[in-house]
Amino acid sequence: MLVNLDAVLKDAQKNHYGVGLFNTTDTDMLEAVISAAEELRSPVIIGTAEVLLPSGELKLIAPAMIAAAKRATVPVVVHFDHGLTRERCLEAIELGFSSIMFDGSAGDTEENLKNTAEIVKYAHERGITVEGEIGHVGEAAAGDGKTDDMYTTPEEAVNFVKATGVDALAIAIGTAHGAYKEKPRLDIERLKAIRAKLDTPLVLHGGSGLSDEDFKNTVREGIAKVNIFTDICVAGIDAMNEGLERGLSYLEIRDLKVEKMKEAAKRKMTLFGSSGKC
Ligand SMILES: [Zn+2]
Repeated sequence: MLVNLDAVLKDAQKNHYGVGLFNTTDTDMLEAVISAAEELRSPVIIGTAEVLLPSGELKLIAPAMIAAAKRATVPVVVHFDHGLTRERCLEAIELGFSSIMFDGSAGDTEENLKNTAEIVKYAHERGITVEGEIGHVGEAAAGDGKTDDMYTTPEEAVNFVKATGVDALAIAIGTAHGAYKEKPRLDIERLKAIRAKLDTPLVLHGGSGLSDEDFKNTVREGIAKVNIFTDICVAGIDAMNEGLERGLSYLEIRDLKVEKMKEAAKRKMTLFGSSGKC
């Protein structure tokens, strides 16, 4: 069934588990992630991000995501990840997404606050939940996510939630997007300090490549939503390489890819503790 973030994150926060957001830019990923969630009886969040749209047009993939969510036997949030512009966020809402992220974290803090608050007002009138970001989770390839001034402080997290009314908050505690060149250093003390001051569900971005231990620690200390993309892509690439080596046909390679991406998604759901929760 199609639900918004509140329907899955409040329970996750209360019962100390994490719900995965798996971006599903094509129907193969969609099939892999939804079937993984159904098999494990796990709530799940699917979606796409503004930067991913050149590889999967929003108007084409949105109806497939929404149809898959509606017919699923587990709660599914269809979330627009890292909306960078108001126009795209509104388009996603128009197309039936139940949740959006507006990410103004790369720009001026005051602007981010003002723009996020406006989008929250618009979305809440329509029953759509909104995730915001304060601090800045950068790109691993650019070496971002390592300078202290990009990390979220407890004070700015509290101020941001108060000023914007977001339903979930992405925080920067040392992770970065994409594949890591060196092992990330997670600031768990910072996460604890933010959690202690705030009731809003917290979101970890840049999760691919973290160790199982890192995931367990961050979920235990208060992360309710974990974003995963690169790790599922890697599982898909490995399957395609394996299929080519074995001389499989196009459709056989596709089926193998779905199966391997499904296994990767199931591993994450089990690790986050969301399996068996619905
Ligand atoms: Zn992200």
